[in-house]
Amino acid sequence: MNIREIRERLAGAALRPQRRFGQNFLHDRNLAHWIVDCALGGLSSPWRIWEVGPGLGVLTKLLLGKGAEVRAVEIDRGLAAILRDRFAQEARFHLCEGDVLRAEWPEPASDWVLIGNLPYSISGPLLASLFRRQAPFRRVVVTLQREVAERLVAAPRQSCFGSLSVMGQTSFRIEIRRRLPPSVFYPAPKVESAVVCMEPLATASIPREDLESFCSFVRESFQQRRKSLRKRLGREERRRPEELGVAEWVSVYREWREEAPRGSGGEGRASAGRGSFDLT
Ligand code: SAM
Repeated sequence: MNIREIRERLAGAALRPQRRFGQNFLHDRNLAHWIVDCALGGLSSPWRIWEVGPGLGVLTKLLLGKGAEVRAVEIDRGLAAILRDRFAQEARFHLCEGDVLRAEWPEPASDWVLIGNLPYSISGPLLASLFRRQAPFRRVVVTLQREVAERLVAAPRQSCFGSLSVMGQTSFRIEIRRRLPPSVFYPAPKVESAVVCMEPLATASIPREDLESFCSFVRESFQQRRKSLRKRLGREERRRPEELGVAEWVSVYREWREEAPRGSGGEGRASAGRGSFDLT
């Protein structure tokens, strides 16, 4: 879909791009094909896709054309109406109209692929939600703000290394597949983007039931920096949070769980709400 077609489809439904929903529509056809190939490449069919924010359906159409089943979650009523109309004949298309942050993930044992050109405002809470539970996805291919993508793949001591890096890399192998200039979207956003591919690690170092607690531990440690780490472990700990690699975070967390007196929060730490996650 080129810019003229996007404009016409929106105008035909008396819609305009909504900034509050992060609506920047992909108009580069080759790129859309490339993203879909990233999502499906090397995976055996049947493909079951969870699409976040399908918009006008640029990726949806290609996915359906490949024979995939697509469950799409779209918050904008006007766009949802366009999608329902556009894919009315497609038995493999299922639309959920609403906020993806309130949607239930598919069953943990299932092997969905998550895809989406994510609105920047929800990428933080969505990723946090993904990292806090065992992901039911065999692959996640998302377009993110470039800075967020760089945090996801950062190594210890890099300036953008933070809780998001640790939480993500504990459960996923993460790769930036491509950087995108603003010009591939209409309207063009103010920032650059990147396509990220994440696949769950074969062996989880944190069991599913502890992920929530682990992520809270990491996030709070980064927020409070060195003081908190020393205090929490009940021993001298000179390293700063940004100096610990993922494996070290796992062992520091285990130590904290074992050493913390009952009631101190070492067991079953509460999670932040889905919407309250910051991207430190
Ligand atoms: N996938 C389309 C494309 O690539 O052209 C649209 C991408 S646009 C960056 C983001 C899409 O996510 C929009 O369709 C927007 O309405 C939708 N969206 C925004 N917030 C959402 C939310 N909380 N839940 C579900 N969809 C949302």
